[in-house]
Amino acid sequence: MNRREDMIDHAQALAIALAATITTGAFAHPPEASDEHQHLDEPPALLSLIACAAPPGNGALMAASFAPFRPNVRFYWDASYFYEESDSMPSSTLMPNIMTGITAWQQQIPVPTAYFGSVLNPETNTASLGYGQPNVWRIPMLPVPAAAPISLSGGNFQRGAVALASNGIPIFNPRNNTGQFSYAIGELDIYGGHCGRADDYHYHIAPVHLQSVLGVSTPVAWALDGYPIYGYTEPDGSARLALDADGGHTHGTWGYHYHAIGSDATGPQSPYLMNAFHGTVVNYGGQVDPQPSALSFMPAGNPLAGARITASSRPSADSFSMTYTVNGVSYVVSYQLNRVTKAVAVHRESPTGTTDLTYSNTSRFPRYAMAAKSMNLVPDTGQTISATATFGEDSDYTINAPSFTDNSNGTITDNITGLMWQKVDAGEMTWDNAVAGAATLSLGGFTDWRLPTPAEAFSILNHGRNPALDSTYFQSNPAGTSQYWWTNDTYGTDTTRVWSTNAGGGIGPHSKTQTVSAGGTSRFCARYVRGAAASVGHNYYNNGDGTITDIDTGLMWTQVPGSARNWNAAITYAEGLTTATYTDWRLPNVKELQSLVDITMTTATSAATAKAALNRTLFPAATATAYWSSTALAGGSLTSAWLVEFGINTSVPAANGPSRGFQGLVSYEVQASTYPVFAVRTASTLACDCPYDLNGDRTVNGFDLALVLSNWGVANGTAIADTNHDGIVDGQDLGVVLGAWGPCP
Ligand SMILES: [Zn+2]
Ligand SMILES: [Zn+2]
Repeated sequence: MNRREDMIDHAQALAIALAATITTGAFAHPPEASDEHQHLDEPPALLSLIACAAPPGNGALMAASFAPFRPNVRFYWDASYFYEESDSMPSSTLMPNIMTGITAWQQQIPVPTAYFGSVLNPETNTASLGYGQPNVWRIPMLPVPAAAPISLSGGNFQRGAVALASNGIPIFNPRNNTGQFSYAIGELDIYGGHCGRADDYHYHIAPVHLQSVLGVSTPVAWALDGYPIYGYTEPDGSARLALDADGGHTHGTWGYHYHAIGSDATGPQSPYLMNAFHGTVVNYGGQVDPQPSALSFMPAGNPLAGARITASSRPSADSFSMTYTVNGVSYVVSYQLNRVTKAVAVHRESPTGTTDLTYSNTSRFPRYAMAAKSMNLVPDTGQTISATATFGEDSDYTINAPSFTDNSNGTITDNITGLMWQKVDAGEMTWDNAVAGAATLSLGGFTDWRLPTPAEAFSILNHGRNPALDSTYFQSNPAGTSQYWWTNDTYGTDTTRVWSTNAGGGIGPHSKTQTVSAGGTSRFCARYVRGAAASVGHNYYNNGDGTITDIDTGLMWTQVPGSARNWNAAITYAEGLTTATYTDWRLPNVKELQSLVDITMTTATSAATAKAALNRTLFPAATATAYWSSTALAGGSLTSAWLVEFGINTSVPAANGPSRGFQGLVSYEVQASTYPVFAVRTASTLACDCPYDLNGDRTVNGFDLALVLSNWGVANGTAIADTNHDGIVDGQDLGVVLGAWGPCP
C-alpha cells in the first residue's frame, strides 16, 4: 500500500468515527439557532466567511504552536520567516514557580526582556546579521536541509538560543558555556529553565511540560533552523521511532522533525535536544545568527556555592520574589519593575539585614507588559457632517457608532471598547502627579484606575464636536476647562514629551512643561481609565494575498499603500479598489488609521531619517509620510481633513495646516494636499485569529473537520481545507485541525 492510500484509509476511519460522534452531539455546535443544514453533507455553506489563508510551509504549524500562549507571545510572518515577540516571562498561571528547584545558581533573577520588533538588536558586531535589525525571533518557515549539519556539541552554539519554545521562551544549548549539561548539574528549575547573565529567563532542555497545553500532537518548540521539536512520543502518541545522526527523522505525514530526548518515566535524558542542526543555519560569533538578545542591566552574578532555590512567587504582574537557602540559612531576593521609569528595584534579605538597589535601562525594560488587547473595537469618530459629494468619507459609514453608558457613580462605560472612564476628569496637574494619582483614585467602587494608553485616550474623542468630547459623558473638572489629557506614555526616546490628546481632536507628544503646574500656559489633565491591562502591539495575520488583518481591531488593511493624491481622489481610490478579490475597501476614518501606528516605533529624530512608524515587516512598502483619513475636519469651510503622520513633516505650508514634527501625530491639512492612502475594510470574521477555525465560528470542531474530509485529496493550493498550503488536503491538514481542537484562544 502506498502512503497516499494509507492516509485516505486513516482519514476514512476517522471520518466514520467522528461522524458517529457528531451525530451523538459530542462536539460543540456553532451558535446558530437553526443548524439542521450544517451536517457533514453541507459544511461549505460557511465558506464565504473565510477571510484568511494559512502561512506557507511549517508556518501554519508554528501558528498552531504559539497561538495557545497568547498574550505572552505575539507573532506574524512574511513569505519566508515566522516572527515571534515576547518578553520571555512565562505565564504565571502555567509556570508559577520558575527558578524553584535550582541547586546551582549564579544569583540571577528572571526579569522581562524586550524581544520586540520595536527594539533594536543590541548586537554590536557589524558583521552579525542581527546588527541594526529588530530584536525579534525569526524562524524559517521553509527549512532547507544543510549540506553539512552543524553539531550542537564541540563548543558550537554556546551563545544565544538554538530553539524557541512554543510559549516564546528561548531554548539554549543543553550544554552550558563550560560544556556541561545544565540539567545534569542542577542549574535548571522544575520546568527546565533558569536565568542567564542578563537575568533573562530561558530553557536548556525541550519544554515537554508545555504538552499540558499543546497535547502530544503539536510541537513544544521550534529549532532555529525551522524544524519542529515534538515531545517524547511521535505526534500521534505512539512510541518514538529511531533518530538519525542529527537527532531527528522523517516519517508519517509529519515531515522532518526533532524530539525531546527522554521519556515520561525517566524525564529528560542526555543529550536532551537534537545533536545537530539538520537544517541550514548561519553559525556566526558562536550563535545562530541573527537572533535577538537581552541587554544586561546589572552586574553578572557569581556561583553561590550550596544555594538551593526553594520557592518563588509573582505577587503582582511586575514583581517577583524567591527564597533560597545556603547551609540551612534562608534568604529572600525580590524585585519590582517600574515600566514608567524603566527601572527595576531589587531587594535582598538575609539574617544580617537588607539591601536595596535600583537598576535602570531604557532599552531593556519594555514599556508595556505582554497583555491581551484592552479595547474590543475601534469606535467611530462621531463625525457626521458631509464635506464632499464623493461617496466614502467618514460620515457615509456607520460601523461602531459611539455608545456610552453613564453608570451614575462617576464612571462611564464605553460600550464599543469596553473600557470604563472617569466622567469628570481629575483636573490639571503635572504628568508625574497624573502617573502617581492613579494609585490613590477610588471611584465607583474600583481602585484599579490607570492613565490610558495613547490609543485608548484617542478612542473617546469625538471628531464631530469641538471641544472633541461628548460633554454628556465626559466633563472637565470644575477647577477649570481641560485643554489636553495626559496618556501613560512618553514619545519614542524623548522622555520629556508625553502623548496627550487635545480638545481639538488630535493627539501628539507634548512637553511635560507645557502644563500650568509645571510652569506652562495650558491645562493638561488626567482622565483615568480602567479595564483590561494596557498593552501595545498588534496581533496581525498576514493573509498572503496583499492584505493584513489586525486581529485585535478586526480591520483588514492593504499591504501596499496607494500613491499620493488629494483627499477626494483618495476616497475614490479606496472605494474603487479591488485587492485579493475584495471590493468593499474604503478610506479609514482617523481612529482606524491611528490604530495602524505602532507607538513604540515613533523613534525618528528627523524627517530625513524617519522610517514609517508601523510594523515594517508586514508593511515594508509604507513610506514615512502622512496618510489620509476619511474624516473631514468639522467646522468652518469643511475644506480640511484629518491625517496621521507616520514620518516627520516640518515643512507644511502654514496656510495648509499645522506642522508635524513628530511621528504618530494626528493632525489635519487642506484637502487639496496630496498624500498616499491605506485602504481598509471591516473583516467579516476573525477566523484568522484561529487558523484552523475554518468556518469562522470561533471553535475548531466537527464542522472544520468536515471541511477537511469533504475536500480530501483535492489537489488545489487554494482549497480552504489545505491548512498548510502544500497543494493537497491530506492527513497533515487533518492533524492540525485535530491538534487545534476546541475553543479559539
Ligand atoms: Zn542558561
Ligand atoms: Zn518523530
